Amino acid sequence: MICYQLRCSAGHPFEGWFPNSTSYDQQQDSGLVSCPQCGVTEVEKSLMAPALSTRAAQKTLPPDEQVRMALRAFRKVVETQCDDVGDRFAEEAMKRHDAQLEGERQSERGIYGTMSDSEKERLEDEGVDFTPVPWIDRSDS
Ligand SMILES: [Zn+2]
Repeated sequence: MICYQLRCSAGHPFEGWFPNSTSYDQQQDSGLVSCPQCGVTEVEKSLMAPALSTRAAQKTLPPDEQVRMALRAFRKVVETQCDDVGDRFAEEAMKRHDAQLEGERQSERGIYGTMSDSEKERLEDEGVDFTPVPWIDRSDS
């Protein structure tokens, strides 16, 4: 099913559901699509919203599940675009920081990993840029 946002020639907005776009064209050509307010059959599509049912389904998810979904998606992006350096994160971040200070060309890819509180303090003292991120367990469901 496709939901079309329709508008009649008098400017009334209304919704119409059709099995597919061809069906809409056929019904509209035959004058079967009319404005529920004034009955005019001169209507036009103003916006197509085929994702309506998906959005409705997402709305029914509890908020904490939506957050988990967002965090999982976020983790995936980080894992795809950055290299996992594990517990060597502080070491690697320092290396990159030093290289940057010396004007060396940086790798395009970022890194991610873990570090202890003391390592974190050291990086902060050195003025190394890093961002703490919320990390969700992949198995969490
Ligand atoms: Zn109308």
